Amino acid sequence: MRLFDVLLAVVFVSALFMFVSLMFVTAPYGRHARAGWGPEIGSRLAWWIMEVPASLGFALFFFAGEHSREPVPLALFLLWQLHYFDRAFLYPLRIRVGRRTTPLATVASGFAYNCINAFLNGTSLSAVTRYEPSWFGDPRFLLGVALFLAGWTINRWADTVLRNLRRPGETGYAIPRGGLYEAISCPNYFGELIEWVGWAVATWSLAGLSFAVFSAANLLPRAVANHNWYQEQFPDYPPRRRAVIPFVW
Ligand code: NDP
Repeated sequence: MRLFDVLLAVVFVSALFMFVSLMFVTAPYGRHARAGWGPEIGSRLAWWIMEVPASLGFALFFFAGEHSREPVPLALFLLWQLHYFDRAFLYPLRIRVGRRTTPLATVASGFAYNCINAFLNGTSLSAVTRYEPSWFGDPRFLLGVALFLAGWTINRWADTVLRNLRRPGETGYAIPRGGLYEAISCPNYFGELIEWVGWAVATWSLAGLSFAVFSAANLLPRAVANHNWYQEQFPDYPPRRRAVIPFVW
């Protein structure tokens, strides 16, 4: 069995385990940070370390593939980097996290997953799945790209709203308001999920599907934890708001 297939299976199985464990133990970063998780580093540096492999590692694996100069893989490569170049290099500069720290254990697991995911999706795009130029007109490509761009826009907008809740140097929390925030507590996670579902559809690949499943296993339990946290912290928290899926969950 090839390394690619083994890692793909590992991601699907660990997504299941992760979903169940995160329903009971919330990952200890951001508002859920707490003592007892070992050594820590600054949160900005943590984001860089975790996310750089998702941009640079992906590029490395992608350009090692024999089909990397073909138009469809190149277009999908750009789509991926639209999200990950920003997330790896610019997002850590934008966030207002003061001196907040993140456990090294969280950083190590994020780094490891992003390396594996970069390998799976980069290799899948340029070496495993074949995309003829006609894929540009395929409804799966068109729908997937539309979903990806819609999710990306929601995610960027929602993260900007959160950022603007703090002035430089502040680290407190406030109730986010307006737009999708009136319907759900975590539009940034909602947008991110739509993005990776779109990616799975546009690439029509098991690697893409594995990332969508893994993101859902990670973000759905965290959205519930964030939602419960808001309700505990703010007695006037809007009661009709759901956690992450408007009107549903
Ligand atoms: P959060 O929503 O928890 O936090 C985002 C930023 O906003 C942080 O800097 C946080 O500060 C700040 N913030 C959050 N809520 C408030 C508030 N009410 N008032 C003031 N500031 C606030 O998101 P995450 O940190 O979990 O994730 C960041 C991004 O990464 C998101 O876009 C998410 O979709 C993506 N992500 C994707 C994953 C995937 O599997 N694909 C996994 C995890 C994240 P602080 O850190 O101090 O709480």
